[in-house]
Amino acid sequence: RAKSAGKDQFALFCDGLHSKAARQLELESALAQALARREFALHYQPICRVEHGQPYLLGVEALLRWRFNDTPVAPSEFIPVLEESREIVRVGEWVLREACRQVRCWQQAGQTQLYCAVNLSIRQLQQVDFAELLARVLRETGLPPHSLLLEITETLLMHDSEMMLNCLHEIAALGVRLALDDFGTGYCSLGYLKRYPLHVLKVDRSFIAAAPDDADSVAISRAIIGLGQSLGLAVVAEGVERSEQIEFLVAQGCQTVQGYWFSPPRPAAELQSLFDGTRSADGLWGLRHARQTLP
Ligand code: C2E
Ligand code: MG
Ligand code: MG
Ligand code: MG
Repeated sequence: RAKSAGKDQFALFCDGLHSKAARQLELESALAQALARREFALHYQPICRVEHGQPYLLGVEALLRWRFNDTPVAPSEFIPVLEESREIVRVGEWVLREACRQVRCWQQAGQTQLYCAVNLSIRQLQQVDFAELLARVLRETGLPPHSLLLEITETLLMHDSEMMLNCLHEIAALGVRLALDDFGTGYCSLGYLKRYPLHVLKVDRSFIAAAPDDADSVAISRAIIGLGQSLGLAVVAEGVERSEQIEFLVAQGCQTVQGYWFSPPRPAAELQSLFDGTRSADGLWGLRHARQTLP
């Protein structure tokens, strides 16, 4: 009996592995065609500043969306596959160009100070000519460099190479700013915060989620906010969903927030209609026009 149960478990294990590998392969080949088939879209999530209770819009983060067989696939599932196959280099270039174009368009339509945040993969920075590409995209779309914020993660900084450091300095020299995303979840040595030309720290939403009820999360977010401030970095809290979290963050001196409380990521057309006032600000609670370029 035991023997047959063991066999079943083994069969189950192999099956699981098989279907995971099969899914991986299926996604990989579908993703290789997704750009040409125009299956990607960008959604934009507002980044707001709360001041005296009245929030205003600072910028938007572009977030990649993919529909496969008419079903949305989560970025946490398809982005690792794009990175693995290095297809992220081509897709990331499309994201960068499309986000810069869209935000420039909103700026010209009256959101003059709106900034654009774009996530970068390490694979993109490993391209020798990344800074050149970046300069070209800015020139072609007309987006001012100071209106662009590139988000990188701690894992990227762990690839502590001369080349990476040079590349980040070239980006900063263009006038483009850099944010360290999901801060607190990686294994970044704090020395990196000084060594790299960073402007913004984004506190990972896992710490915000449990605040202000969980004492450990409160202590960690408070420490991160203090660290950012004393290093002269702007601090943005991600994943703000409840008003108690805003109160807590403001009390800690962190006034720049992003999360479902203000708005989930939305298609460009939905934000557009909010900007022209042809749609009510439902979900975008009392949001005023963009006023400054960075948190
Ligand atoms: P991220 O850069 O940290 O983006 C924030 C994620 O948190 C987004 O998930 C967003 O939808 C989600 N989020 C925002 N507010 C809330 C909230 O209040 N509560 C909760 N529970 N979640 C919230 P999304 O869109 O699924 O993206 C996941 C990750 O995929 C991103 O995390 C980023 O690392 C990566 N990603 C997305 N687009 C791109 C891209 O164009 N290029 C690269 N390299 N990575 C991307
Ligand atoms: Mg991000
Ligand atoms: Mg993040
Ligand atoms: Mg995150």
